Amino acid sequence: MYNKKSKIELKKSLDRESFNRITCSFYKYCSINSPEDFRNELYTNLENYNILGRIYVSYEGINAQISIPEHSLDQFKSYISSFKIFKDIKFKHAVEEGISFLKLKILVRDEIVAYKVPKDSYDMNKTGIHLKPVDFNNSIKHKDAVVVDMRNYYESEVGRFKNAVIPDAHFSKELLPKVAEILEDKKDKKVHLYCTGGIRCEKASSYLINQGFKEVYQLEGGIIQYAHDIKENNLKSEFIGKNFVFDDRMGERVTNDVIAQCHQCTASSDQHKNCKNDACHLLFIQCDKCASKYNDCCSEACNEFISLDIDTQKKLRKDINKKVSSAKLSTKFRPKLYKLFNYWK
Ligand SMILES: [Zn+2]
Ligand SMILES: [Zn+2]
Repeated sequence: MYNKKSKIELKKSLDRESFNRITCSFYKYCSINSPEDFRNELYTNLENYNILGRIYVSYEGINAQISIPEHSLDQFKSYISSFKIFKDIKFKHAVEEGISFLKLKILVRDEIVAYKVPKDSYDMNKTGIHLKPVDFNNSIKHKDAVVVDMRNYYESEVGRFKNAVIPDAHFSKELLPKVAEILEDKKDKKVHLYCTGGIRCEKASSYLINQGFKEVYQLEGGIIQYAHDIKENNLKSEFIGKNFVFDDRMGERVTNDVIAQCHQCTASSDQHKNCKNDACHLLFIQCDKCASKYNDCCSEACNEFISLDIDTQKKLRKDINKKVSSAKLSTKFRPKLYKLFNYWK
């Protein structure tokens, strides 16, 4: 039940569409008894609505980022709300439109947010107090307020609340223990959490409450909703820069501040991209100048790599994969190893 067309074909067929699409996200922690069956039912229906995007389904709930044809939006929303467990679900719309997804993927996962902390270290019935964006904006100005970014480092690198605590976490599984450690002496403070759409704060707040934090607040609807409400109410945004999003747009601009730097030349830039060398695919920030200099690659090595003929590339990929597995290295090291491919030729 997957779409097998190539990326280029998919883009072409999207360009030919004569209607608008709406990028929308929603989530709900709730118990789903048979995620596999539910996934199959959902896939059939969403495919009929011509919906694209990425959805995770698990025993603990649903997490969805999708792109919906404008004319099917109402029908789709009533379809989702017709499930008893989803009847009060909130849909969030993107601030900036653009091609967000090329196909529909619905995956069954163990968790909808993979913090990988023990199941008894949180209780989803005890979560933080939800604050609407405008209230969050006021509440974080309190003298006892602490603001914590509950996302990975590469996300906060391009956009964050001013004065927020930014944990130096590169993988979700590091995040919760790290935050608890950083806030060790702040258990009596007013802890304010935020993330992209709210879903990560739900579990994170529960974890912190379980760790003994007294007052935990969370930004309802996340940065996506915040950006909306701030604009609508003509308020000053306390969030600066870009909201990193997990689709082909890679980010929604919230304010004009550019707070990050090109990873290659340190010029001011907040444009994320994946290295054009598919064998590397590293996520990094690159300015326009370096993009043309390195051909959209993360390094001179990757640039050279993609200029090799396909057969040589394939052979090198094989060799490198062999080295990765024989050295029992995590696949996360692969991009770094590709940079070294020159030395192994
Ligand atoms: Zn640069
Ligand atoms: Zn690369």
